Amino acid sequence: MTRVFNFSAGPATLPVDVLQQVQEELLDWQGTGMSVMEMSHRGKAFVSIAEQATETLKALLNVPDNYKILWMQGGATGQFSAIPMNLLRGRDAADYLVTGSWGKKAIKEAGKFCTANTVARPADDRFTQVPDRAEWSLSPDAAYVHYTPNETIEGVEFPDVPDVGDVPLVADFSSTFLSRPIDVSRFGLIYAGAQKNLGPAGVTIVIVRDDLIGDVLPQTPTVLDYAKVADGESMLNTPPCFTWYVCGLVLQWIKQQGGLDAMAARNAAKAGKLYGYVDASGFYQNPVKPEHRSWMNVPFTLADANLDASFLEGAAAAGLTTLKGHRSVGGMRASLYNAMPEAGVDALIKYMDDFAKNNG
Ligand SMILES: *Cc1c(COP(=O)(O)O)cnc(C)c1O
Repeated sequence: MTRVFNFSAGPATLPVDVLQQVQEELLDWQGTGMSVMEMSHRGKAFVSIAEQATETLKALLNVPDNYKILWMQGGATGQFSAIPMNLLRGRDAADYLVTGSWGKKAIKEAGKFCTANTVARPADDRFTQVPDRAEWSLSPDAAYVHYTPNETIEGVEFPDVPDVGDVPLVADFSSTFLSRPIDVSRFGLIYAGAQKNLGPAGVTIVIVRDDLIGDVLPQTPTVLDYAKVADGESMLNTPPCFTWYVCGLVLQWIKQQGGLDAMAARNAAKAGKLYGYVDASGFYQNPVKPEHRSWMNVPFTLADANLDASFLEGAAAAGLTTLKGHRSVGGMRASLYNAMPEAGVDALIKYMDDFAKNNG
């Protein structure tokens, strides 16, 4: 068996320990004689798997009791619609901070349901930093303020939680969920697609303050109605059972690694090493303002874009895969989620350094 270091932005690398446990339990989950894929979602076995995953998540993130944890479908993209449908609550405007490509998609979708105001967005659409707080224009009538803590494509991450006063803060945590501790009580709603830092694709976590739910737009589909999903224990209809189970194992793995403080220390160290090398190399470049650089997604360009293809070819031969940057940014992108070991970063830096020496 040969495992590569997979730097994909998502679906992304998973902890080997988790994959091995999945393999061991695949044919016979804990004496049931069947795999989790084959179980009724209403049966005792799956209900216990589901509840345990939710409990572990609640404990890891210290989610206060007045928040609901929902396991939903439709991806983070589905939440771009669900959020205005659930959170407008009689208002007709919401505020969006746009710091990259996902924020652009979120505000566009929200525009179908309300007046979606831009709080801040760079005029040239080059997303290389979080705009200064002094440049933000929050509107007084906004039902909520939405932002993207980590922009997966551009590699721009908020260094802290923005202060928006009493208006509920809504955050698309997809690519930085569980990368460090957060104070959930600062948020009205947090959401994240699983396939970056939590598990396989197919499930989306929503953590929402319970006083904000229950007053939806009349046309809201039942499966996107947070109050109904909460009442149905996230099983209004058949959930993605296998994904939910694997997410539960990843959550256990995080706990065994020392929880979110340990994740944060590891993630800061991994990202720090790679940015440090890029900046010192004289061959590679990252355009993001240092304070706003992502721990999770590190885009970089080569001194000469004509070398991109041979860089990628040599990397793949060295067992370093999925490094091609998003087409909108070009160059490379190394995603360093929780499950990427430091050895993967070391191997990448060594390859980059050899490549620079041979081509510089
Ligand atoms: C990947 C990603 C999305 C889209 O997620 P889907 O689950 O594919 O809809 C949205 N926002 C961010 C920040 C992402 O990284």
